[in-house]
Amino acid sequence: MWSRPHLLGIEGLDASEVGYLLDRAASFLGPMPKTDALHGRVIVNLFFESSTRTRTSFEIAGKKLGADVINVSPSTSSVSKGETLLDTIRNVEAMHADILVLRHASSGAPQFLAKHARSSIVNAGDGTHEHPTQALLDVLTMRKRLGDLKGCIVAICGDILHSRVARSNALLLGLLGANVRLTGPRTMLPREAARLGPTVTIMPTLSDAVEGADVVMMLRIQNERFSGAALPTTREYTKTFGLNTAMLGRAKPNALVMHPGPINRGVEITSAIADGGQSVILDQVAAGVAVRMAVLEAVGRTRGAA
Ligand code: ASP
Repeated sequence: MWSRPHLLGIEGLDASEVGYLLDRAASFLGPMPKTDALHGRVIVNLFFESSTRTRTSFEIAGKKLGADVINVSPSTSSVSKGETLLDTIRNVEAMHADILVLRHASSGAPQFLAKHARSSIVNAGDGTHEHPTQALLDVLTMRKRLGDLKGCIVAICGDILHSRVARSNALLLGLLGANVRLTGPRTMLPREAARLGPTVTIMPTLSDAVEGADVVMMLRIQNERFSGAALPTTREYTKTFGLNTAMLGRAKPNALVMHPGPINRGVEITSAIADGGQSVILDQVAAGVAVRMAVLEAVGRTRGAA
């Protein structure tokens, strides 16, 4: 079952915890009536980086569970006046927030806060480190279409080095027995992929990664996370690592095409594929609400009001 006060990452979770969250999330898929599981609780969404899908779906999820949800963004908060993250959190907790959903550009920010917080911390993406609810919603989407993921081949392609989505997915898919292939330009690949698990392999080219895959997950180049030229040109990138119809033809027939968003159409993926019959990109978005309901409910049940 679930007994943790926080969800900080996929790392450290075991198969039964992941199974619990995924099964609970599956029960929330589809149009869900409001419940009162978190009635009287206060959830504060603290997003120090831009977000469309994650912030909105955490808000919807909290409201579906009957909680009061407040959104704080850095441009309108005292962070822009020099307040530290810890002071911000202490102030929010003084107002009796129960769950803090945090997105931050610094890897490790939620882990740091969890050591000091009285409330539950949910990681909504920390730097290049982890994005656990994204991996859970990706796996929920895959499981719904493919069933058991043991032995499935999942190709994750693009800017792996700077992607918290790739990292959390590699860890979670490994836990579920899927084979993960990572590919991208050499400057965008981690040196030690093996650390992500025994089922993770680095592939030199996109076609090697896509060949016979059950799932092809494309990633955006995370321009905001590095300076300087990690790539020759965007055109060159699209030519070598962009997914087009011919390249997708190398995957298994009816392989799923995924992308965490935001999509850069015409760069890492063509519009024909993003909007095509094999794309489950909007199913991922829908699964996001279900997964975030399961996570908020789980941490909310574990820890009482702050
Ligand atoms: N939305 C995802 C994230 O926050 C992926 C991306 O931004 O490319 O990591």
